Amino acid sequence: MGTFKAIRIDKAEKGTAAALTQFDEAELMDGDVTIRVEWSDLNYKDGLAVTGKAPVVRRFPMIAGIDLAGTVEQSTHPHWKAGDKVICTGWGMGETHLGAYAEKARVKGDWLVRLPDAMSMRDAMAIGTAGFTAMLAVLALEQQGLTPNHGPMVVTGAAGGVGSVATALLSKLGYHVIASTGRVSEANYLKGLGAAEVIDRNELSGPAKPLARERWAGGIDSVGSTTLANVLSMTKYRGAVAACGLAAGMDLPASVAPFILRGVCLLGIDSVMCPMGLRKTAWNRLAGDLDPAKLTEITHEIGIDEVIAAAAKIIAGQVRGRVVVKIL
Ligand code: NDP
Repeated sequence: MGTFKAIRIDKAEKGTAAALTQFDEAELMDGDVTIRVEWSDLNYKDGLAVTGKAPVVRRFPMIAGIDLAGTVEQSTHPHWKAGDKVICTGWGMGETHLGAYAEKARVKGDWLVRLPDAMSMRDAMAIGTAGFTAMLAVLALEQQGLTPNHGPMVVTGAAGGVGSVATALLSKLGYHVIASTGRVSEANYLKGLGAAEVIDRNELSGPAKPLARERWAGGIDSVGSTTLANVLSMTKYRGAVAACGLAAGMDLPASVAPFILRGVCLLGIDSVMCPMGLRKTAWNRLAGDLDPAKLTEITHEIGIDEVIAAAAKIIAGQVRGRVVVKIL
């Protein structure tokens, strides 16, 4: 057994420390599929793990990285054989199970999704957990019965990873998208993704009234806190909002008024433990519903040696769209 390159997180005197180093293959955790990792990406959660800003990492040493795309090297799982191209997102990778910023990973075969035919590994990671979560939010809104005829959709944190993919997806599906951002300088970028309107996030960041003027049929929120409370208070009768993030905070200083007076629904979105049937549906929809040109526009590429610096930037809100990480 040899070693491979990885971003390793260890406990430090104060918090945790991340370093790009050699990792011993003998230290890989149990799993029935060993993967040669070719691409990964950078999500907000990766930023938290690598910077140590929140206790995302639950085991030490850890290899950071919650998403990977790669080729199966060895498998004792009945569904997978050497040479298969796979995606793995969530399931505790980079948190409780050694993760994706590494040339090698060993995971459970039950966690894997086959790379869709029309999708490259790089594109799969350009989508990554953030894009997958945006798709889960769209599916939840559709399941709630919402269509473009019901009215506009607001997307908060629109210039971020979830927000950028959500904007592109909803506009492709025919929605009038209202993109809320703190970076109004990115208005052209957001309009290029299909936003019909761009609003300043300050409009949604103050204390929320129980009910406010009805502005949208629903939305996708990756910000949480007072932003989500405002989004709910401005949602039309029988609308629905998919909540998937906490970029501004984990609290929800809202009232029950939108729920009990307007029949508004709040839909919770989790990508980490998402069941396999829904995962496959979401990846197949992403292969068809996300315009490849928009995905290219959203994405920029870095090497594994640039991840630690990029992690600090995503936490500072300085990353636009999606970051894809070339591992091999
Ligand atoms: P990004 O950092 O790429 O995007 C977050 C965006 O939120 C920023 O770009 C910014 O958008 C906005 N934002 C940041 N800070 C604030 C603030 N203080 N107030 C208001 N808006 C703010 O992260 P991701 O897209 O990767 O993730 C977004 C959120 O979704 C995170 O909280 C993440 O943990 C969560 N998430 C949850 C998942 C789940 O399974 N439920 C899966 C994936 C992500 P702008 O500049 O446009 O204002």
